[in-house]
Amino acid sequence: MEARRIQIFDTTLRDGEQTPGVSLQTEEKVEIALALAKLQVDVIEAGFPVASPGDFEAVSQIASRVKGPTIAALARATEKDIETAYKAVKRADKPRIHTFIATSDIHLKHKLQMTRVELLERAEKAVRYAKSLVADVEFSAEDASRSDWDFLCQVYERAIAAGANVINIPDTVGYTTPMEFGALITYIREHVPNINEAVISVHCHDDLGMAVANSLAAVAAGAGQVECTINGLGERAGNAAMEELVMALQTRREYYHAVATINTKHIYRTSRLVSALTGIAVPPNKAVVGDNAFAHESGIHQHGVLNNPLTYEIMSPESVGVSRNAIVLGKHSGRHAFEERLKYLGYEFDADTINTLFAKFKDLADRKKMVFDRDIEALIVEKAAVRPEWYTLAYHHVASGNNILATASVQLRTSAGVAEAAGCGTGPVDAVFKAVEQAVGFPVGLKDYQLKAVTAGEDALGEATAWIERDGRIFSGRGLAIDVIEASAKAYVNAINKMLAVCGFPAIEEAKGGNNHG
Ligand SMILES: [Zn+2]
Repeated sequence: MEARRIQIFDTTLRDGEQTPGVSLQTEEKVEIALALAKLQVDVIEAGFPVASPGDFEAVSQIASRVKGPTIAALARATEKDIETAYKAVKRADKPRIHTFIATSDIHLKHKLQMTRVELLERAEKAVRYAKSLVADVEFSAEDASRSDWDFLCQVYERAIAAGANVINIPDTVGYTTPMEFGALITYIREHVPNINEAVISVHCHDDLGMAVANSLAAVAAGAGQVECTINGLGERAGNAAMEELVMALQTRREYYHAVATINTKHIYRTSRLVSALTGIAVPPNKAVVGDNAFAHESGIHQHGVLNNPLTYEIMSPESVGVSRNAIVLGKHSGRHAFEERLKYLGYEFDADTINTLFAKFKDLADRKKMVFDRDIEALIVEKAAVRPEWYTLAYHHVASGNNILATASVQLRTSAGVAEAAGCGTGPVDAVFKAVEQAVGFPVGLKDYQLKAVTAGEDALGEATAWIERDGRIFSGRGLAIDVIEASAKAYVNAINKMLAVCGFPAIEEAKGGNNHG
């Protein structure tokens, strides 16, 4: 039996961006979309254009700059939403409008205040309008898994008749189970007369930890598209994790008779990129992309894997882009070796970028004995998002101890000159944050802060993430340095730069005026 091809619909930039605490800038979204195109996903859902001007801008940038996958934009079943979605995606080579409306009685009654008959008309009208604008229209029945099955079949029949070529069956609240969901797919295939004119898609949430299992059950029952996100990001407990779905399909290909044409060697680095840009860490025990996913701790297992990896490995680390024998670079490694390593890791950059990265690498190698692939990837991610940098950290000095107040002084470079200030706090990180806040001259609003090591070892690179809040929006910043205080200060300054790029400088009366920018 020939394997069926399953379309991978990535919604990291739409549902994933709704992860609590995640707020990506346009350039970061484009960077992720480019990585998704390298992964060779079939569809990128780039955003929900009517939600905000920022969302609209990101979707239209991705539509014009990211080539290869279909670019989809989400729209409720209203003319304004659909028209806005169209304007945002129209420059894509393959644009798709994804329109949705809820079909469960709970949503009809408490959210939409509509009858079933009214809903059928609304869904049909929305699909018809979207189809008048683009050839590729996806229709979703929100909360499908809690909708009446026969009514659901009527809705899909009408949507397909109106021109939908993909019908999506979301488990919006993560309520279903694999057997039940598989049965629903089968039911829809048997009770929607025109079902052969459309691809069946599923969109599962992970509230009960079954998003991937439910999606795979749907594939087994005949679904042809799965919606998913990198690292399983998404609303609440998140969506089905793409890396798990894709590797399950690849590893159990004989079982599912289905295949996704993803370039799996890019999975690991895409996961790292998304983690770094969203500030959402990947747990070490996470399937496929966690640090421990290919680590063999017990002696018996190690011995077995050394004899033959098949003993305890169902897939190879190389297949997802994790190198087994990491070649370690050091301060004597030249530009050529560095460039070769970048190539081996799958990165192709222009000469300027390589020069910049090589300078950073040399700087790192001076202070760190061994430079691992993970370190190099961290450097690459650090340069990934280009944005106006209002402030850069010029120097910092911190004094702290167990019986003195921690004090810090910092100097920030700006286009207008330098800003200097001092601060004290409960510890060195707190003190350096206070000093930065004094230097910029307005209250920053730290929400959260996290520090971790990129690799093991006493001279490991520290990776700090700081989250700040302004106007109800969260901005995350990231900093990388061997000195963890420096990493923290850089993360804080990075978050401030991102906030300023979106919100601009706070009004004068709000600024508490700490410093001279001259
Ligand atoms: Zn969702």
